Formats: sequence, structure tokens, C-alpha cells
Amino acid sequence: MSNSILVYLETEGDALRKPALEGLGAARAMATALGGVVVGVTIGASEGGVAAAAAAGADEILALGVGETVLPMRRAAALAMATQKCAAAYVLVPATASGRDMLALAAGALGAGVAADATKIDVSGSDVKVTRPVYAGKALQVVVAKRSPFFIGLRPNSFAPAAAKTANVTRDALPAAPANEPVLREVKAPEVRRVDLTEAAVIVAGGRGLKGPENFHLVEGLAAAIGGAVGASRAVVDAGWRPHSEQVGQTGKTVSPKLYIACGISGAIQHLAGMSSSKCIVAINKDRDAPIFKAADYGIVGDCIEVLPALTAAIHAAKG
Ligand SMILES: Cc1cc2nc3c(=O)[nH]c(=O)nc-3n(C[C@H](O)[C@H](O)[C@H](O)COP(=O)(O)OP(=O)(O)OC[C@H]3O[C@@H](n4cnc5c(N)ncnc54)[C@H](O)[C@@H]3O)c2cc1C
Repeated sequence: MSNSILVYLETEGDALRKPALEGLGAARAMATALGGVVVGVTIGASEGGVAAAAAAGADEILALGVGETVLPMRRAAALAMATQKCAAAYVLVPATASGRDMLALAAGALGAGVAADATKIDVSGSDVKVTRPVYAGKALQVVVAKRSPFFIGLRPNSFAPAAAKTANVTRDALPAAPANEPVLREVKAPEVRRVDLTEAAVIVAGGRGLKGPENFHLVEGLAAAIGGAVGASRAVVDAGWRPHSEQVGQTGKTVSPKLYIACGISGAIQHLAGMSSSKCIVAINKDRDAPIFKAADYGIVGDCIEVLPALTAAIHAAKG
């Protein structure tokens, strides 16, 4: 069995996205233990994106369809093609929005084994064991990779990035587009470019305890003061206070930041499902019995309309 480890490298403009760097880190640790090579694959990346990939820590880069616009079905077909081309034993796919799609589609196309949403990969001898949270984070499942190729989805912020290293680049064409491929007419970029929640190291999230959308500037103010992204509970997204892109939880995004500050969020199981693997959780809630305090490392019992501006002011004062 080949021990080459393929990593899908998602680019944004001329840069690699952070989860791609973490994917290379996870692959390098596996390759060191198993003795294989790390191959990064870019699909439709720009020339600058390919150059960034070639410096990021892989042994080899396979650049498919450089500069082309690639839609999801073809992207997954390209990943399946790359898997076969380099006879990869393991394929690591960071669980970004497009990564999650590709993981299922490409693994399904090859009839491969899959472990999604990994937070840890252990290698002992030639055994690869993947740890993944299940039941909304209440239990950890350990999956043993038995088949080759074996696809592993990586939860962002769970693996250290690889050390920089220069790789050889091989260019190749994309597989043919499927006959029923839709036509992409326009891409609308958001007016304000925000850090993707799944990649953010710090998140300040607000819930119904904020009382109304007019008070969310308090969450934004604290997030800006500590360089964080803004998240939200489903209750406030359903109420139209915040966009769905900010929703954290079972039907929103799964996040693992270093710091998660939950403001006026009760801590329903569906919310915890999306954030309980955060490294440090701080909860602000006026109800001392709110379930969020059971998940929190630090708790502030108080009214977030008062606590948030005080915290933000204290941070500004500490920064001078
Ligand atoms: C199938 C399914 C999927 C779901 N998916 C998700 C999901 O992805 N994400 C998600 O978040 N939810 C999800 N939910 C909904 C979830 O069950 C909860 O309803 C939701 O998380 C509650 O949001 P909340 O904590 O903002 O509101 P509430 O439950 O209303 O809690 C508000 C909290 O704010 C506190 N509070 C009130 N005023 C203040 C104040 N002034 N200062 C400080 N604290 C205050 C209260 O004590 C309370 O704890 C899902 C539900 C279902 C059934």
C-alpha cells in the first residue's frame, strides 16, 4: 500500500486558507510516523495560490486546472482523480464549507472509507486512528482506518500548521465537466470581508439575551477589541437579527476557536454541538443556572448589556 498522503489545499486569491495549512501539518505528522510523502492538491487555484501552496510544507504539489473556475461536482471529481493519480493511502480534507462537500462526494465516488470532522489523528505502527466528536460533542468516537484510500475530514483549528518547505509542482488538466454541470453566472463577494467563523481563533457570539439586533454592536465592539469574529445562536438568526453565516451549532457552523465568549446564550445542546470543542469558553448570562455555565471555563453572571461595554472598555484600557 502506498503511504502517500494527499491534502486538499483550498486557496483564496493568492493565499492558502488556514485550514489548508493545518491539513499539511496533520499530513506531515502522519507521514513522519508512517514514512510516506505529503502531496498537496490545488484545484482551480490562481498562479499565486499555486506558488503559496508550493511553499507551505508539502513534498509535492499537484496543481489541477490552474486559474480555472471549478464548480463543486467537478472539484470533487478532481479530488477523486488526484487520489488515484498519486495512489494516496490517506486523503485529508479540511472541513470548510466546500471541503465538507468534497469529502463525501470524492470518497463516495471511490467507494472509500471516511471519517469526518476529525479533531485528532494517532498513528501507532501502521494503524491510523481518527478521533471525532459525536452526539453533539458528548462523546468521542475513535475510527480505525481499514481501507485504502481512506478520507479524513479535519475540523479547523484542531491541528498545528506544517513548517514551511518548498515542493515540486506538477500541473495537470481537470477531469471533464459533468454533462449536467450548472453554469456559474456571477460571484457576489460580501461587502465587508470577515474572517470565516470556522477559522477564527477568537469568537464573540450573541444570543437572545442581547434583547434585540440594535444591541449587537456590543458584541461587535468586544469582538473588534480582541480581534475576534462575531457568532450567533440560531434563535437570533431565525429572528432575522443576524445572518445565517454567523450561526454556530448543529444546524450552523462547527467552530473550535481558542476563545469563545457566549453572550446571552442559554447553552442549548444544539448550540453546544457547534462550539463545545473551543479551547476556552467564557459565558455571560444573567441566569446563574443557565446550562451554558456547565460548558464554560469562566462565567460572568450579569446583564450582558452592562457587562459587554465594561469588558470592551477594560480591554481598550489594558491595550493603552
Ligand atoms: C433541530 C434543531 C437544530 C438547532 N440548531 C441550532 C444551532 O445550530 N444553533 C443554535 O444556537 N441553536 C440551535 N437550535 C435551537 C436551540 O435549541 C435553542 O433554541 C437556541 O440555541 C437558543 O438560543 P439562545 O440561547 O440565544 O436563546 P434562549 O434560549 O432564549 O436563551 C437566552 C439566554 O439569554 C439569557 N439572558 C436574557 N437576558 C440576558 C441579559 N440581559 N444578559 C445576559 N443574559 C441574558 C437568558 O438567561 C438565557 O439563558 C436548534 C434547535 C433544533 C430543534
